[in-house]
Amino acid sequence: MIIVFGCVAVKFLQESIPAILIVILVTGLIGGFVFGLTLPVIVSSNSERVASYEEVAAQSAVQEATKLAVEMGVDSPEYGLAYETLPGAEKYDGPALARSMPIETKEAWLSWMRNNRNDSPVFLEERWQLAQAFVGSSELKRPEDVRAFLLTPREHFVRARNRGLEYADTWLPIGHGATITDPDVVAMMTTTLDINPGDKVLEIGTGSGYQSAILSYLTKEVYTIEIIKPLFVETDQLYRDWEKSYPSYGSINRKLGDGYYGWEKYAPFEKIIVTCSIDHIPPPLLRQLAPGGIMVLPLGPPGRQYIMEVKKDIAEDGAITLTRRDVYNGLRVSFIPFRDEIGTSYSTSPAEERVTVPPPPPPPSSKPENPLEEVNLEENNLNEEPSGTDQAEEGDPEV
Ligand code: SAH
Repeated sequence: MIIVFGCVAVKFLQESIPAILIVILVTGLIGGFVFGLTLPVIVSSNSERVASYEEVAAQSAVQEATKLAVEMGVDSPEYGLAYETLPGAEKYDGPALARSMPIETKEAWLSWMRNNRNDSPVFLEERWQLAQAFVGSSELKRPEDVRAFLLTPREHFVRARNRGLEYADTWLPIGHGATITDPDVVAMMTTTLDINPGDKVLEIGTGSGYQSAILSYLTKEVYTIEIIKPLFVETDQLYRDWEKSYPSYGSINRKLGDGYYGWEKYAPFEKIIVTCSIDHIPPPLLRQLAPGGIMVLPLGPPGRQYIMEVKKDIAEDGAITLTRRDVYNGLRVSFIPFRDEIGTSYSTSPAEERVTVPPPPPPPSSKPENPLEEVNLEENNLNEEPSGTDQAEEGDPEV
């Protein structure tokens, strides 16, 4: 049996050897041809990768950035690379411009604005009225803050669908689930920061860009972070569009990212303003606050927060003291939540029921001509309580 099988196998091999040889030859030829063609490619791509690894890595980073920039609607590769827009070394001096603006009388201010700005006269009138109201209510305390407020055209930042409400003292939607904060809350938070020219100020929650625009007239060192990409792009573009006539916008450092972690690269910051709500002080922000620095933030559970000023002091032995003060005299507000990249709120406490109240009445129109008549610099003490109101039980503005 075995012998029979052996004979059959030998016979089969004898007959097929030429065919097998032909198959091997043809495969070898085709394989050699293809390998010959691909060899230089493999070698060159290998050698290129190895020889200039960093260059290739840099190249792909630029490609990534360009792709991102195109996606964001911005052409410059640097723009997307770090998700940051950083002004050049020469920053425009917004505070100097603010100091040169007269605000002693409405006429003097109007005439300066007419000579230096192209803002619509209707808006100028409304802006002046609102500034006066806030000086009267001590929501604007220092002349520097009044100037910054008067220099900032809120009409640039309120969205087109809310035309007519540019100077209404209320928050307004700006799309992407975000809002532009009420002007009185913006004024109060700005005044609380007590900004000196040269202070580094970090804002969390760029939103419409209005708050940072105001800050740009108080210091050249403004840093702002927004987490919602389309909103970041929209506001970034808005600053670019207006930069020619409003050059201080160009000095605002902008970043797309999660503000919970601050902006380590530029820390410490003398002042930090958080414009989204949270039930605790983010530890990274506290760490990045300079000794003697001030942070202002809407602190409390979802739906209802106090506007708190937090001062950080460090003793010689390294002990850290935090002094907290409610700057809105018990009045509670409801800011947009402080959230992470996938949209989860950083607050863990249960939401408090929101009380819906009608928007606050428009500011009184009969006010003294000079907004500074009511500014008493002697009283500008950060430890004093703000001028008391009875609103605490009445209002629950959303900002
Ligand atoms: N300061 C803004 C107010 C914007 S509302 C203005 O003047 O218009 C609050 C903003 O905080 C929203 O745009 C929201 O997207 C943003 N925000 C929420 N969580 C954030 C986070 N982790 N980092 C940065 N911005 C955040």
